[in-house]
Amino acid sequence: MQPLIQPALRLSFIWLWLAAFGWLQPGAAEPLATVRPQAWERYAVAAPLNPMRLPAIAIVIDDVGVNVRQVEATLALPAQITIAVLPYAPNAAQLAREARARGHEVMLHLPMQPLGAENPGPHALTVSLSPAEFDRRLAWNLAQLDGYVGVNNHMGSRLTSDRPAMTKLLDELRRRGLLFLDSRTGPRSVGTEISRSKGVPNLQRDIFLDHVITPENIRRQLQLTEVVARRNGFAIAIGHPHPATLAALNRWALDLEARGFKLAPLSAMLNPERPLRSAALGSVR
Ligand SMILES: [Zn+2]
Repeated sequence: MQPLIQPALRLSFIWLWLAAFGWLQPGAAEPLATVRPQAWERYAVAAPLNPMRLPAIAIVIDDVGVNVRQVEATLALPAQITIAVLPYAPNAAQLAREARARGHEVMLHLPMQPLGAENPGPHALTVSLSPAEFDRRLAWNLAQLDGYVGVNNHMGSRLTSDRPAMTKLLDELRRRGLLFLDSRTGPRSVGTEISRSKGVPNLQRDIFLDHVITPENIRRQLQLTEVVARRNGFAIAIGHPHPATLAALNRWALDLEARGFKLAPLSAMLNPERPLRSAALGSVR
């Protein structure tokens, strides 16, 4: 027998043995027994089947909950769109439950200090808080809703550049098994760097859809999102519950798949198998 074949055969016997005892998910590369399901995995919405391995796009609508008139229209978006709820919104917990019941993946949109004078809202994390107050505010925010896969920053161009504050925040997210989506509201965010060093599942926003709230601009930003998805195999865009954004998204999503893209919940972008990504990279290289 060839020397290379023998170890491979031995491995496949071990795999069969593990599979027989239910320790392997069908097709999974590692025994699940070693991986406790993290909160983000527990609350993740199943990624859609993607036999064609189309580039995937995740859309996150954040700032949800403060403008109560827009809540219904936001929840009526296609279910694969992820909803990020502000913890200080009235009825935040109920809103998150309703979003999940309608099939949306839910994120917690955490208020953080910006560089400018804009007010990030009550209980926001700022760099000047005492350690005890920082912890208290963080715990308060994280307790306002349930069933979310992770956190992305509301504003935060100042706080996300602060190493001690981000270390504290990301330590807590890791402890709770939550993912971090860096909204990238400022150029000096250390969110991704610290997440990676601590092993916090992390993602970054590629495109803002509606910094300029006109139908033309939102359409252009959606096209740009498609360009990024084609290039990288996936793309993450953030929008807000403006009527123009919701209308543009509903129209855009209608024939998205015919144009060769798959709408997917945010957490699907963390899937290490990311069939979408490997397919796209293969065609780019
Ligand atoms: Zn926000």
